Amino acid sequence: MHELGIAKDLLDIVLLKAKENHLNKITKISLMLGEASGIEEDFLRHSLIDHLLSGTIAENCYLEISKEDVKAKCKKCSTEFEPSEMIFDCPSCKSKEIEILSGKDVYVASIEGE
Ligand SMILES: [Zn+2]
Ligand SMILES: [Zn+2]
Repeated sequence: MHELGIAKDLLDIVLLKAKENHLNKITKISLMLGEASGIEEDFLRHSLIDHLLSGTIAENCYLEISKEDVKAKCKKCSTEFEPSEMIFDCPSCKSKEIEILSGKDVYVASIEGE
């Protein structure tokens, strides 16, 4: 197996969006990949391009994968910060009780087609 289950889920969302917008062909898919998602960009790209897109209306489309920075907020003092090197302590009060605001998911940002 050389494909991610999450890539299949993303493709399902892409195809659903295409249907909603009455597209017959998808020319571009833009994905946002969170830095803390734990997903490797190369593997995501490989899963889609080499295994999943062929035979669909998104075959040969341009696949754009943008990285999304990790942003977090301290639950104690409400400081917002960008955790670095997977150190998830609040820089202000050192609390470990933080909430991740963005950067832990991968999602479909937009699609283009005709
Ligand atoms: Zn493969
Ligand atoms: Zn804090």
